[in-house]
Amino acid sequence: PSGSEPAAKIVINLERLQALPAEKAGPLARYAAAIQSQRGDYNGKVLSIRNEDLRSLAIIYDMTPGDLSEQLVEWGVLPPEARVVRED
Ligand code: C2E
Ligand code: C2E
Ligand code: C2E
Repeated sequence: PSGSEPAAKIVINLERLQALPAEKAGPLARYAAAIQSQRGDYNGKVLSIRNEDLRSLAIIYDMTPGDLSEQLVEWGVLPPEARVVRED
């Protein structure tokens, strides 16, 4: 594997997500809630989601996956090391 596939794991901080105003966090909060429901995974402080899900969320937010992950890091929903998500 070359340096061109960082594949940082997407681990959402659910407490930070809940603390954000709904107009910012709404779509992501609904997406995370749907995944929790499908998995039956309600007790965690964090939720690991698929890399592929970040692409879907980027479409919903009308941003590139890189810009969205940057935004999520700024909101404290993703840890800083998640900033390296690539678009290729
Ligand atoms: P990790 O992936 O670094 O996750 C560390 C801890 O974060 C987990 O401890 C759990 O408390 C929390 N966590 C991460 N993602 C989620 C999530 O989507 N939902 C919930 N409820 N909690 C989450 P835990 O459960 O004791 O797991 C320890 C380690 O065991 C994990 O470290 C990972 O290396 C492995 N592991 C656990 N479940 C899975 C899995 O479904 N797939 C894989 N590949 N590894 C797993
Ligand atoms: P599915 O996609 O047919 O996955 C069936 C089961 O395969 C999952 O049951 C899980 O046990 C395992 N699985 C599939 N992909 C992965 C993976 O990347 N990592 C790990 N650790 N396990 C995987 P589970 O968790 O009960 O999920 C049931 C269904 O809920 C999934 O069926 C899928 O339709 C949906 N789902 C759950 N989590 C996610 C997610 O993070 N993103 C998306 N898009 N769908 C999810
Ligand atoms: P993980 O379980 O450590 O899986 C890491 C990567 O291995 C996944 O990245 C995916 O590329 C691959 N992988 C693992 N299990 C499966 C599988 O059953 N089918 C396929 N096709 N690929 C698999 P990805 O998709 O970005 O997922 C990242 C993390 O999100 C997973 O780490 C896991 O913690 C969580 N996750 C994703 N989908 C599910 C799911 O359906 N159920 C659960 N419980 N967790 C999931």
